[in-house]
Amino acid sequence: MGKTCDVCGNELGFLKKFKYAEGYICKECYGKASRQFTETIRSKSFAEIKALCSEERDEASFENFTVTGKIGSYMLIDDKHKRICITCNRLTSQKVSEPKFLDVKDIKKVYIGYQPRMDIHTLEQLVMEQRSEQTIDHLKVGIVLENGHQEEITLVQKPLRIKSYAFRQSFQFAKRINEEVEALINETRQANAEQAAKGEREYAEV
Ligand SMILES: [Zn+2]
Repeated sequence: MGKTCDVCGNELGFLKKFKYAEGYICKECYGKASRQFTETIRSKSFAEIKALCSEERDEASFENFTVTGKIGSYMLIDDKHKRICITCNRLTSQKVSEPKFLDVKDIKKVYIGYQPRMDIHTLEQLVMEQRSEQTIDHLKVGIVLENGHQEEITLVQKPLRIKSYAFRQSFQFAKRINEEVEALINETRQANAEQAAKGEREYAEV
């Protein structure tokens, strides 16, 4: 027990083991689990450690990302490579998260989610009128991926009156994120369809 790293199974050297709540890990895993030595891991559980270590900190993604647009502190857009980056949004999600890079081609659809449920046009109307005392408990943009996973950008997670400035502001951000991602999806699909059509023509000509 304690001779190998709980995460990767590598041998633990005498001075090269790092303690977390339930055991020990190696230096390499410690680097990941501590977010490059910026956090302590002493009180982290095995599940947390494992999750942190499995996160591919994709340095290449950071390098190859050309910021061509951004929406508040929520999202960066790379129109050149057709990618988006969901930036860490600690303020609203109240948990530390790494920026998440997504290829637009991997996105199936995007939607605005909120509670309680109502028609989006009704909500838009209420936001515009600025009179409604009704509250919305939760507002997010959901990004559904082709592989079935889903990413979420949380904008509101405590009850806010629809007429409040904070809600109206968040709603505008949600709409902009939704529109931008939708436009990117459509552009990418169109480009792919054109590419496919071109390929077919070339094939037919041979
Ligand atoms: Zn390890």
